[in-house]
Amino acid sequence: MELRKWSPKNGAKGRNRTGDLFITSELLYQLSYFGLCVQARIYLRIPLFVKCLLHVAEWCHSEFPCNPTPDAQCPGMRISFLIFRGVLGALLLVAGLGSGRKPSDATPVPPKRSSWVMVKEFAKEHGFTSVKVLEDEVRLKGRVHALHLRKDSRKAELNGTLIWLNQPMTVRKKRWHLSRLDVDKTLLPLIHPTDALKGQGYHVVVLDAGHGGEDPGALSAKGRKEKEVALDVTRRVRGRLMKAGYKVYLTRHDDSFVELKERARRAKSWKADLFVSLHANSGPKTAKGLETFVLSLPGQRSTNQKFGSTVSKQTHPGNKYDQASMALGYAIHHQVRSSPGGLDRGVKRARFLVLKEAPCPSALVEIGFLSNKEEAAKLATSAHREKLAASIALGIENYLRGVRKAVVDQTKTKTPSTRNAE
Ligand SMILES: [Zn+2]
Repeated sequence: MELRKWSPKNGAKGRNRTGDLFITSELLYQLSYFGLCVQARIYLRIPLFVKCLLHVAEWCHSEFPCNPTPDAQCPGMRISFLIFRGVLGALLLVAGLGSGRKPSDATPVPPKRSSWVMVKEFAKEHGFTSVKVLEDEVRLKGRVHALHLRKDSRKAELNGTLIWLNQPMTVRKKRWHLSRLDVDKTLLPLIHPTDALKGQGYHVVVLDAGHGGEDPGALSAKGRKEKEVALDVTRRVRGRLMKAGYKVYLTRHDDSFVELKERARRAKSWKADLFVSLHANSGPKTAKGLETFVLSLPGQRSTNQKFGSTVSKQTHPGNKYDQASMALGYAIHHQVRSSPGGLDRGVKRARFLVLKEAPCPSALVEIGFLSNKEEAAKLATSAHREKLAASIALGIENYLRGVRKAVVDQTKTKTPSTRNAE
């Protein structure tokens, strides 16, 4: 059998089985070359890819002219051409998909993060050296923090203070997991506050006494009004913070009515570094204890919201400070809940207007239930209100110390590169 190369020049003359075989082998060679082009596009540079593509195009043009002669319509060539087009199309598709990837010398794309974190991995990564998995709870202990998680529960205790998670700790693939959102937005701001507090200020404190004027707020059985209790404690907190050298503003100084949005607007005009609203609670007669609220996360239920109810996906101005607000809420609540006789109801999340509109990290503290006879009696004494004020002021100071530390740490890490630049 005579082996002859097929070419458009000899056309039908060169068309035979051998010629078709030759085309097929040549096609395979060109296709493998094209495969390399695709790899070149993905892993090297675009110009090299273009160069390779031009090479293949040139070959295609020479072997399959735009106006083929009737002789060129031989079945072997048509089949080969069809196969070529099919494979070429597939490769182009692959190249198209690959075009979204970055070259190897660019920043690598991080792997997709799972929305759940294994509790044991979380412990290992964040300095908890002891992990005790008991029947219905997990206890983590490190050099600085102790975290107590309850199985299938949203309740977590960090250093003895109750914090409400968005999702319960749950079993996935036979291992206990926490939601990634809870790790990032609830736990890490408390375990590594320096990261959460970067970029925050530590000079201007805005205190907001709840209600006022025509709005008395909650009422005790003996007629004590929430607006009076809140204002009294707020003034006491201000006194302590001013003594410590902070600039403190009050959204209301007297029994005047101030719209909720106006409170946030005033905080913004004073360039507030933090905003704390003080209230007294109301509920069933048996309800008692202290609770602190920070803003709910977009798309997540508020702590007291019923399962199945509509969850807001809206992001509010206050959500810009989610991590720092968590650190602030925890810092205050950690002090307040340990005040004498204080029942810990935890750090919760809610969509209160003053938190939604806050122009800085913010928290709302409920200092006790006026609807509860015992707590109303305690709130009526100035000694108890003074203790509450001392705890709240200490919590705020601890938060501000954390911010100062974060600023100092940030300056330290920046210094070497600044020196290099000089
Ligand atoms: Zn209130």
